[in-house]
Amino acid sequence: MSDSIILPPGDWPVMQPGWVWLCGAGPGDPGLLTLHALNALRQADVIVHDALVDARILDWANPDAERLYAGKRGGKPSAKQKDISHQLIHLAKAGKKVLRLKGGDPFVFGRGGEEGQTLVQHAIPIRIIPGISAGIGGLAYAGIPVTHRDVNQAVTFVTGHDRTGGRTGVDWASVAKGSGVIVIYMGMKHLADIATDLIGAGRGPDEPVAIVAQATLPDQQVLETTLATCASDAAASGIGAPAVICVGRAALLRQALDWQSLAMGHPARNADPLGLGRPAEDG
Ligand code: SAH
Repeated sequence: MSDSIILPPGDWPVMQPGWVWLCGAGPGDPGLLTLHALNALRQADVIVHDALVDARILDWANPDAERLYAGKRGGKPSAKQKDISHQLIHLAKAGKKVLRLKGGDPFVFGRGGEEGQTLVQHAIPIRIIPGISAGIGGLAYAGIPVTHRDVNQAVTFVTGHDRTGGRTGVDWASVAKGSGVIVIYMGMKHLADIATDLIGAGRGPDEPVAIVAQATLPDQQVLETTLATCASDAAASGIGAPAVICVGRAALLRQALDWQSLAMGHPARNADPLGLGRPAEDG
């Protein structure tokens, strides 16, 4: 099955024994994998992947490749970061072609930086393959553009919890003031507190919020809510991690750009959700 997957002709990099390629797998939909990632999957001897990598993507690997799960999920028991890094070092030193495959982009809240650094400190050669991050591609699947000229000139990507699982690390007041659109990763656990902090820092309680869970996957769920009600609405709907949370008027654009719903023949709910009263391309 995986032999039927052929890369377009090109000068694809060859994976060498003893190397580790740190690679993003995108947010879920296998079609969002990059060609470099596919090239890596076809060559690796060992694939060390985390929980957010879709099984269909792993099925594109070389059939002889060993697959090792190094999952990390908030609140659940998981491999320690140190153990994962040391496993990568061990495999590389044993002469394997190692693919470290992570959900989304390896350098966006994915600890790819730490793993890469540890490998370099142990003189292991690395290659970095970026991926589509959930906070951009996942929102796009929900019809939410993270920037829009009539909404925001800046977007902040922020994590809902720090390395201890707490939430001391983020200055939410600055985030609230500095950025029209805020995209929160790993934010479900502390959603109520985050929303309270953002409102406390001056964001409107009625401000639109969209929560996109399992983004890009067949069971993608989207909850459209507001800052004041997002935590209770999320609890009532049962929507859960993994989810990206978009705070700001960008979330309204889903009313026009929910392309999955349009593709099913439903009309746009509102072709002008920002209420501009003019064609979108004007100005
Ligand atoms: N490196 C990843 C992020 C890893 S942190 C990236 O660039 O996307 C894990 C968090 O990413 C999850 O808690 C969630 O906030 C987000 N995430 C990853 N995949 C997702 C998906 N398919 N749908 C919604 N959120 C996702």
